[in-house]
Amino acid sequence: MDNSTNSNFIKTIIKNDLASGKHKKIVTRFPPEPNGYLHIGHAKSIVINFDLADEFNGKTHLRFDDTNPLKEDQEFVDAIQEDVRWLGYEWEELHFASDYFEEMYERAVLLIKKGLAYVDDLSADEIREYRGTLTEPGKESPYRNRSVEENLDLFERMRNGEFADGEKVLRAKIDMASPNINLRDPVIYRIAHATHHNTGDKWCIYPMYGYAHPLEDAIEGVTHSLCTTEFEDQRPLYDWVVRECEMENVPQQIEFGRLNISNTVMSKRKLKRLVDEKVVDGWDDPRMPTISGLRRRGFTPEAIRAFVKETGVSKTSGVVDSAMLEHFVREDLKLKAPRTMAVLRPLKVVITNYPEGKIEWLDAEINPENPEMGIRKIPFSREIYIEQEDFMENPPKKYHRLYPGNEVRLKHAYFIKCEDVIKDEDGNIVEIHCTYDPETKSGTGFTGRKVKGTIHWVEATNAIPAEFRLYGPLLLDDEQNEEQSGEEKDFLEMINPKSLEVVHGFVEPNMKNVKAHDKFQFFRHGYFNVDPKHSTPDHLVFNLTVSLKSSFKLNK
Ligand code: ATP
Ligand code: MG
Repeated sequence: MDNSTNSNFIKTIIKNDLASGKHKKIVTRFPPEPNGYLHIGHAKSIVINFDLADEFNGKTHLRFDDTNPLKEDQEFVDAIQEDVRWLGYEWEELHFASDYFEEMYERAVLLIKKGLAYVDDLSADEIREYRGTLTEPGKESPYRNRSVEENLDLFERMRNGEFADGEKVLRAKIDMASPNINLRDPVIYRIAHATHHNTGDKWCIYPMYGYAHPLEDAIEGVTHSLCTTEFEDQRPLYDWVVRECEMENVPQQIEFGRLNISNTVMSKRKLKRLVDEKVVDGWDDPRMPTISGLRRRGFTPEAIRAFVKETGVSKTSGVVDSAMLEHFVREDLKLKAPRTMAVLRPLKVVITNYPEGKIEWLDAEINPENPEMGIRKIPFSREIYIEQEDFMENPPKKYHRLYPGNEVRLKHAYFIKCEDVIKDEDGNIVEIHCTYDPETKSGTGFTGRKVKGTIHWVEATNAIPAEFRLYGPLLLDDEQNEEQSGEEKDFLEMINPKSLEVVHGFVEPNMKNVKAHDKFQFFRHGYFNVDPKHSTPDHLVFNLTVSLKSSFKLNK
């Protein structure tokens, strides 16, 4: 699915800019901070930036916005590149904001010389206090009117490491009474004696986001700088920095609504907590909304891209039902994934009238919706496994599966009838005994009688043991982005205790050589992915990607 021809407000802006000659070629960028792994919200930004550039013959940069050494790490730099590529995108240029530190410093010196920046000795708390509120103007710092010479000297000494963290900052001198709090002399440099993943110990002062980001865009010649709506109030500062720093290229910041998904968290800070507090098995835990988690769970780049495109580009950010994401992975796997039978919670069935020691190899379609995938051979014998839930000793009305005296169809095989239930001393069911009718073999066109239930099974002597990891939503409740709700709830209290269930059963013998990330549809269960981290030839592990059932309907 590709709806790149759909129009959206950003496309309109770009079209006008190309038509008016403002830009000959457009340049976009995806600018992650390497302080965590990418999540599906980032996928939205990736798709928007890369697809727009592509559609208008422009280019896209991948830029690491690495201006905060305290939180950033090479591990994240590597993982982000892997994820962007896996989603199907390749950047024209790779950049690091930290490569521009020298130029950013020089531009700050220019601001000081123009009387537009000053070194402030107020503490972080005092700065906050002086800033005022939405209804009251801020107060000027007593250091605001230092001379240019003094500021130049102090700023250089900040760079040279003469001061401790927090002792001084550099602030833009804009307007302490501005109705936009971002313009009340924002801090543009702070001191942090920390080792940076790229620049090492070269710097001990680091530029702040509001100052660094517009410069990064301008230095790279980005034409349209797309970000989420929480940065809308920063746009006047963005434009101020580009203008007052006398940048040659003038990028335009445009905001779009962020993507949120129900029953999960979508902020790196919270995802990091889940990892650090070991609530999940790393950033790529299949319950995580990270790109690496979705990949491990069995989601495909095609499904993620189609989903993101369907959510559209607008100014508002809503919460999208996770069922919609699941809809797209089912759509994508429907024709691609081989069907096979897997028994997740096994119950042994002995077919007492089937010859002992005999094995029959039956034909089974690999994908009835895609006949080109051909057929596979599956064994059948006197002993098979079925699902525990496909047998009931005392069934309710309308239960059409196995119960004493009832006959069902075994998918791809024969009708079997339950004759006897074998229990241990404690009354637990150990196995059940059935008879089969050779006349009813699948594919022979038998029409003698009908049965209401069809169940799946795996032949017992050739079955391969396997572990199945069944996932549910990570959170019990919808958790709104705290930027939106404004309150900080402890989301860890909302963790779904049943987000992971592990069961052990069997798969067909033709699954012996599966590889990491192979995807299957297990008949009647859903789509599963071979776990890339824990599955080995001796211990197969399958992750439930998505079940088959869905009440979700795409409005088209
Ligand atoms: P988080 O709040 O999850 O930490 P972030 O915005 O701090 O995310 P960055 O690494 O700064 O993460 O984001 C890189 C780009 O991805 C930014 O342009 C940002 O606007 C965009 N982005 C992040 N989250 C979303 C989202 N949920 N929907 C759309 N775009 C997003
Ligand atoms: Mg950020």
